[in-house]
Amino acid sequence: HVKIKSDIEIAQAAKMKPILEIAKQLELTEDDIELYGKYKAKLSSKTITKLQTKEAGKVILVTAINPTPAGEGKSTVTVGLGDALHRLDKKVMIALREPSLGPTMGIKGGATGGGYAQVLPMEDINLHFTGDFHAITSANNALAALIDNHLQQGNELRIDQRRIVWKRALDLNDRALRKVVVGLGGPMQGVPREDGFDITVASEIMAVLCLATDLHNLRERLSKMVVAYNMEKEPVTVGDLGVEGALTLLLKDAVKPNLVQTIEHTPALVHGGPFANIAHGCNSVIATVAASKLADYVVTEAGFGADLGAEKFLNIKTRAAGFEPSAVVIVATIRALKMHGGVPKQELGNENIESLKAGFENLRKHAETIASFGLPFVVAINKFITDTDLEVNTLLELCKQYHLPVELTEVWEKGGEGGIALAQRLLEVIEKEERDFAPIYDLSDSIEEKITAIVQKVYGGSGVEFSTKAKKQIAEFERFGWGNLPVCMAKTQYSLSDDPTKLGRPTDFTVTVRELKASVGAGFIVALTGDVMTMPGLPKVPAALKMDVDDQGNAIGLF
Ligand code: ADP
Repeated sequence: HVKIKSDIEIAQAAKMKPILEIAKQLELTEDDIELYGKYKAKLSSKTITKLQTKEAGKVILVTAINPTPAGEGKSTVTVGLGDALHRLDKKVMIALREPSLGPTMGIKGGATGGGYAQVLPMEDINLHFTGDFHAITSANNALAALIDNHLQQGNELRIDQRRIVWKRALDLNDRALRKVVVGLGGPMQGVPREDGFDITVASEIMAVLCLATDLHNLRERLSKMVVAYNMEKEPVTVGDLGVEGALTLLLKDAVKPNLVQTIEHTPALVHGGPFANIAHGCNSVIATVAASKLADYVVTEAGFGADLGAEKFLNIKTRAAGFEPSAVVIVATIRALKMHGGVPKQELGNENIESLKAGFENLRKHAETIASFGLPFVVAINKFITDTDLEVNTLLELCKQYHLPVELTEVWEKGGEGGIALAQRLLEVIEKEERDFAPIYDLSDSIEEKITAIVQKVYGGSGVEFSTKAKKQIAEFERFGWGNLPVCMAKTQYSLSDDPTKLGRPTDFTVTVRELKASVGAGFIVALTGDVMTMPGLPKVPAALKMDVDDQGNAIGLF
């Protein structure tokens, strides 16, 4: 029995190349990047501009079935697939999100891949990295402070303090801050009002940074953000407050993508990190576009299952960025499929063919969804060492039966070598299969129609129930001229429905939209369903309990 090495042990044993050498692989010079130490760099503004006129390579989107709480290995497969394409001598780049300290300290762990398919330096990327999240949090809270100061200094814009929709933010899971009261203590301490905190990855500024196409566009988007409504119930924006310049200034470096490498020295841009359940779930447009100009293939990921990240990638991000993906990889694990087939979490290690077959329906639904966007795909079975041969063969057989192209990947165990079959199959699919990409709703559809299209076509539900509040908000938003924006659903990641306990492929369900939020700067309307929250809490046994650092400053216990 060999001890399985942890992600951090594998990462720390890997030998990185200086980031300058990785840049050289991409035909970038020392002048094209800004060094953040020896192993991290940002692409300079000049480089980003220079790349705009270059021809773009192919974008491959990695998505998944509905996950278990541990994640299904999308980041791992994204990194491993990039490494595999690299081994096949393709000019390839990986584009990933930056991890949030919420899940890092909480339950899920980091977001730098796993096993032998990781981006490095994993400790840095999982902790403070190049400070982008700090900058976003600061911009978010500078705006909050400026709003409260506006109230204090006479409230020229006649902001209704009961209708301030801009919250404060923190990149941690901290349920105690969900609802707070600010401004207590008398006239010199501000205007008392109810406020709250969101996790930074749910801040509109995170979405704005990730959907902006350049610094100029970032400023325009920031200026359009709605922070409150006035006494006449009309929207008040950042532009009305006149602070878009200050916010853009705070973000001037955060907007540049971060260059790092995988264990196998494949170049990766890790940039921006909105969650896919409460935000749009994709790394920045600037990073994906830059990667597509620097390489012939970009492997990128969108969060959680294809009902969340991929739906938003395809309906929101492609429209903002102006590109189309060439193919999609749908990651599935036998563990998660068994869970969708009814096996309790503690028993996922035991062979269970009947449950696997039942749970397969979840995968089938996601494959149908990707096909309905007009995109070719390959199912990647992310193999765990506990999967039995019979289980693996059953799943391969089921995929064959329903004509789903499928490959087994062992990138977690073997790095790029374990992803060669997947990479080859994907290249074949890109070359041979037809592609007729189109988002599944038109921007000119009404807000109700857009939400209904997502629920029926992507979730497989029968319809949508809108609360009285939501209906009123829709009417208002359309009156303000926001009816043409795409929709960003806030929904549980565990189920295709808005009820986390409905696993597999639920049918005949309706989704309840309880409330909407206009993210006019990001350029979408958020529809809140179920009881999904924009500030998570920590679990009973947080991952933080295992973390430490030795006297030399080496991280311990980061997964
Ligand atoms: P996702 O991107 O889907 O959230 P990750 O790629 O971050 O998932 O993986 C989540 C965790 O699962 C990581 O700690 C990773 O090491 C682990 N993991 C992924 N694939 C495997 C595998 N095949 N075997 C064992 N552990 C795995």
